[in-house]
Amino acid sequence: MKRVAVFPGSFDPITKGHEEIVRRAASLFDELIIVVGRNTSKSTLFSEEKRLMWVSQTFADLPHVRTEVFEGLTVDFCKKNNARHIIRGLRNSGDFEYEMAIASMNKSLWNEVDTLLLSADTRWIALSSTIVREIIKNKGDVSQFLPEGVNVYG
Ligand code: ADP
Repeated sequence: MKRVAVFPGSFDPITKGHEEIVRRAASLFDELIIVVGRNTSKSTLFSEEKRLMWVSQTFADLPHVRTEVFEGLTVDFCKKNNARHIIRGLRNSGDFEYEMAIASMNKSLWNEVDTLLLSADTRWIALSSTIVREIIKNKGDVSQFLPEGVNVYG
């Protein structure tokens, strides 16, 4: 059976932290689908189109990684795509508590799914899209935190 995993997130915008998790996870699965959340309740700084474009272009070199926009429960997306694993990243104890709670809820919603929590690369442990957005709003240079080719000022 093909091993399919899903990496869901807002990617507002994608950072080198996300990129590193995706590249490591991609080596473990036959197919990895990155799900850019439409997230109607949470307003994003960047449009769905831009978030999707930056994620897709970052992994254009990996043919078994694709990107989709989805609105709804991650487990429903997993069922539809026959994905039995959800990938998330862990930076600190705050992430740990949050991710464990979501993982447990997802397991309750669909017992076939398992969440794989990958520890953040030490270089990117303090990096978050939230901080990147703050720097952008204050006109700082975020290029060192973004995957190559992602130009949020364009
Ligand atoms: P969400 O809004 O769903 O939390 P994010 O795009 O902020 O979406 O994050 C998606 C996933 O990527 C989360 O599991 C988060 O912990 C992880 N992540 C974010 N930044 C980093 C980083 N610097 N290193 C490792 N994982 C990260």
